[in-house]
Amino acid sequence: MDQIEELKQILDKPRSIVITSHRNPDGDALGSSLGLFHFLQKMQHNVSIILPSEYPEFLDWLPNAKAVIIYDAYPDTAKKKLKEADVFFSLDYNGLDRIDPMGPIVEELDCKKVMIDHHLYPEDYCDYVLSDTNASSTCELVFDFVELLGKEGLLDKTIANCLYTGILTDTGSFKYATSPKLFRIVSKLMQYGVDNTAIQNRIYNSLDKKKLELLGYCLSERMEILEEFNTGIITLSKEDYDHFDIQRGDTEGIVNYILMLKNVKFAAFITEQPKIIKLSLRSKGDFSVQAIAKKYFNGGGHRNASGGAVYGTLSSTIAKLKKILPEYTDELLKPW
Ligand code: 5GP
Ligand code: MN
Repeated sequence: MDQIEELKQILDKPRSIVITSHRNPDGDALGSSLGLFHFLQKMQHNVSIILPSEYPEFLDWLPNAKAVIIYDAYPDTAKKKLKEADVFFSLDYNGLDRIDPMGPIVEELDCKKVMIDHHLYPEDYCDYVLSDTNASSTCELVFDFVELLGKEGLLDKTIANCLYTGILTDTGSFKYATSPKLFRIVSKLMQYGVDNTAIQNRIYNSLDKKKLELLGYCLSERMEILEEFNTGIITLSKEDYDHFDIQRGDTEGIVNYILMLKNVKFAAFITEQPKIIKLSLRSKGDFSVQAIAKKYFNGGGHRNASGGAVYGTLSSTIAKLKKILPEYTDELLKPW
């Protein structure tokens, strides 16, 4: 990060700090926000976290998750905090469209803005940018940020548990985007006493019966494999949402099951939301779902994990996806 010395000076005395992350926050969004929150609190700052929308229940045990301000629920409190901030953090997103109605407010803020993020193509709205698309997660970069500030001495078990959670979820339990550097960081986090097994159980072994049944239904009733394109699709309609009483977070991870198939290189999970059709895209190898999300579905993300959304119907979105597949036939049929 350029100008780290300048930022060190700003953070040298107590400040009002607001940490934000993207809508539909995942383990990395909430883990990095809370990790940085606890760290900055130990530096004696007055810190708040504001997220555009609620986080899933399987993350509610993260230390201090309850103190997070959800913009959707408390817009006035959130706006007040944003306007009072001396320093603003943009964690795990790099475009203002990822924070919904907060975007225009943030654009107007007259305070120091810091981005810590690992997505492609950062937008230019921050004064200080720590952006590394090779990083596994924003949590990995928050650890780097603490080191850049020369404040490793403030790390503790609470911060380590938060950062470990985001690393674990964004790497799919160390399957994707790992590096020797990441494992060195994880090794350091472990020394603070990370509750590895407990965290894994909270994240991966905490389903209720309804959700496991939903997964079974998706795999047995709603999955379509397009062998000629090495592609698999699962779709869920409004009726499915009603029937299974699907709540936020209940569909998390379902897309990854499609990739378990040997011959699937591209997986799409398409859901009918109240106002939009949401897509979660995943791939193996060098096939870029980021390019597809950006070009056709107003989205983005990473090469192997991206998302997007369109206005339209479920069937027109499925048709649109199927129509673009031939454009990628060569890439999809190449071994990985
Ligand atoms: P998921 O499929 O789990 O919702 O998201 C996978 C990845 O794609 C995440 O890194 C997330 O940040 C990114 N992503 C999901 N939805 C969107 C979107 O609407 N726009 C952009 N730019 N990225 C998205
Ligand atoms: Mn992330």
